[in-house]
Amino acid sequence: MKVLKFGGTSVGSPERMKSVARLITNGERKIVVLSAMSGTTNKLVEITDYIKKRNVESAGAMIGHLRSMYKKHIPNLLTTDEAKKKCEEFFHEEFIKLQRLAGSEFDEKVEKAILAEGEMLSTHMLTYYLEEQGTRVRLVPALDYMRIDADGEPMLIPIYDYWSKLLAEDKQTEIFITQGFVCRNAQGDIDNLQRGGSDYTASLIGAALHLEEIQIWTDIDGMHNNDPRFVEGTRPVRQLHFEEAAELAYFGAKILHPTCIQPARYTGVPVRLLNTMQPEAPGTLINNVMKPGVIKAIAAKDNITAIKVVSSRMLLATGFLRRIFEIFERYKTSIDMVATSEVGVSLSIDNDSRLTPIVEELKKIGTVEVDQDMCIICVVGDLVRENKGFLGQITSAFSDVAIRMVSYGGSNHNVSFLVRKEDKQKALQSLSQTLFSQDNA
Ligand code: ADP
Ligand code: ASP
Ligand code: MG
Repeated sequence: MKVLKFGGTSVGSPERMKSVARLITNGERKIVVLSAMSGTTNKLVEITDYIKKRNVESAGAMIGHLRSMYKKHIPNLLTTDEAKKKCEEFFHEEFIKLQRLAGSEFDEKVEKAILAEGEMLSTHMLTYYLEEQGTRVRLVPALDYMRIDADGEPMLIPIYDYWSKLLAEDKQTEIFITQGFVCRNAQGDIDNLQRGGSDYTASLIGAALHLEEIQIWTDIDGMHNNDPRFVEGTRPVRQLHFEEAAELAYFGAKILHPTCIQPARYTGVPVRLLNTMQPEAPGTLINNVMKPGVIKAIAAKDNITAIKVVSSRMLLATGFLRRIFEIFERYKTSIDMVATSEVGVSLSIDNDSRLTPIVEELKKIGTVEVDQDMCIICVVGDLVRENKGFLGQITSAFSDVAIRMVSYGGSNHNVSFLVRKEDKQKALQSLSQTLFSQDNA
């Protein structure tokens, strides 16, 4: 059995939903995870922003606009009066719920409940369509099995328990449809797996149930060797090792949620990235196979802050690094890159929400310098020490770009460079030119 996840563009219109329906109805039993229709979660974020600013009127207007958009989809998706009525009634309930939430006092619970609505709408729509087509379909609420613990970490055991029982009891259903992204937190309230989190839902299900394959269906033919939004002429990479894919996802390849490869990697369930618009294209297979000596791809992660701490006393004396790292731990801020010298340490973070108290504390240890609006450029492949010369080749691409930090050696699969945001595109293009222009693989 496989789990297939379809992203926002893949379910972005009634026509696209019908294509998904054609792709998934082949008689094989499967679990299908859906995102919200493209643009919906962004609209829900805007609605929550209005509520936060106590602009109830604009929030209400935006909900009304969304409602009329969804209403227009009904006749384009469904044919029978019965199915249309069912869908209309469901939309009515959901949009009344949204209006009620918009009128309530803003807090995190309200925000998370609103953000979950996109996936509720899309999964019901596809279910109604498949029912109308006579497919044996069952909608499985993600809120019944997807949970995060007090540290925000997803829990595999409830997924396993819930789905094993369901699959054992229900032998009839061909397609189980469920919401990506949404979950419950340790308090039992509605929460989510962060933006782009539907990929994570699919990989958590695939890993918990040790399924045959996790398929991520999107709007491009697999992982490309560079970010197609910034570089022309990128090409799909046919195969990646779990470690390579995990590094690319974490360091900005938007096609995958940053941590969604981890569950697959731990359980060895292969992941396949496929294109809904071109289903016959081979896409990218992610598994345990490492092609020796090959540089696979480049990714970039934005909104990085670099922090340099220079110690005034005994430099890098025992405990210096520990004292610095403890401060970041206390403020639950993870560090991406680290570089040390005799006089101090430079590191980078992507979450600057606690920057002010962190800097205050660091100042007790040494002189602190902060650079915001930086970007990590990450080159991924089989970069083991034995592959001589690759570092020289990679750095030659930066001849025209100022590098603030370099990190190599932490893993065999990644070398990362910290550059200013305005140099990102130049660096990505130059790397593609240097590393892939001869490569016709
Ligand atoms: P979905 O809505 O299906 O989850 P996303 O928009 O999250 O889709 O991810 C697909 C997009 O990721 C592509 O359209 C592409 O613009 C972007 N992207 C960024 N880096 C890469 C890459 N290295 N390979 C492929 N796509 C990438
Ligand atoms: N709908 C959510 C988002 O837009 C989750 C996802 O699409 O994966 O972030
Ligand atoms: Mg996505």
